[in-house]
Amino acid sequence: MTQVLALNDSRQIPQLGFGLWQVPAATTAETTATALRMGYRLVDGAAIYGNEAGQGDGIRRSGLPREDIFVTTKVWNSEQGFDKTLRAADGSLKRLGLDQVDLLLIHWPCPAQDLYLDSWRALIRLQKEGKALSIGVSNFQEPHLERIIGETGVTPVLNQVEINPRLQQPGLRAFHDKHKIVTQSWTPLGQGRSFDAAPVQAAATRAGKTPAQVILRWHVQIGASVIPRSTREAGLRENLDLFDFALTDAEMAAIAALDEGARCGPDPARFNMA
Ligand code: NAD
Repeated sequence: MTQVLALNDSRQIPQLGFGLWQVPAATTAETTATALRMGYRLVDGAAIYGNEAGQGDGIRRSGLPREDIFVTTKVWNSEQGFDKTLRAADGSLKRLGLDQVDLLLIHWPCPAQDLYLDSWRALIRLQKEGKALSIGVSNFQEPHLERIIGETGVTPVLNQVEINPRLQQPGLRAFHDKHKIVTQSWTPLGQGRSFDAAPVQAAATRAGKTPAQVILRWHVQIGASVIPRSTREAGLRENLDLFDFALTDAEMAAIAALDEGARCGPDPARFNMA
């Protein structure tokens, strides 16, 4: 079973989960149920992924008690603003077939829209109503975080951002640590661009693990929550198998040196797609 991380609202989140981006709607229930039966306890979804119905079905099909599963979804950019965010959350709950999610995130800050503060106020309301047990953000940068915290006094429990060996975001992670915000890594495998890197290969050979497992273990050891995606049963199983080995300090330092600040995804300061 996977380890848990403490959230700043006294709840906990499993450190390892699986992500549903680009998982076809028709097979999402099956993938979700398979992963949960295998041992995953955190399911990362989003309204824009178009598969929340399958996410909910998979949770029910797994046969696990609802309270054993940590369910995340996200409010899409076109739904930002106070009232629209409230309605978007209701829509997600309806599609999921759930009364509440464990974690609701604002998917992107979309600074040009300048609605993320109103959206954050809506998430605070939704938490009070019990529709989201915890609330957080995704793709927020320091100025966005400082603004919502400063204006509302409510600190997100988590910020889900792109992190992989070529994009380690040390400054943002230090800000998170200072404010007790959990860092959650998306595209943790970085589109495979570090699989052949010498420190990853060396650690994989030494530990008898795959490059993907070494990279996911690196996320675990930097203290991040991590949500790899695989639709293959063998891939899901491989990515779950991270807790019977550890990277040495020297291996961690060698992987830290791979950082080149290079993104796979968009720059949140400029991404405003609605
Ligand atoms: P990922 O880093 O998890 O990589 C997925 C790719 O790696 C797939 O092609 C998969 O087949 C392959 N893969 C998986 N396990 C492997 C293994 N053991 N060996 C070799 N290849 C393997 O990338 P992702 O899906 O982009 O990100 C993970 C999750 O993060 C998403 O599913 C989604 O839930 C979330 N996400 C969030 C945002 C956001 O804006 N908040 C953006 C992107 C992704």
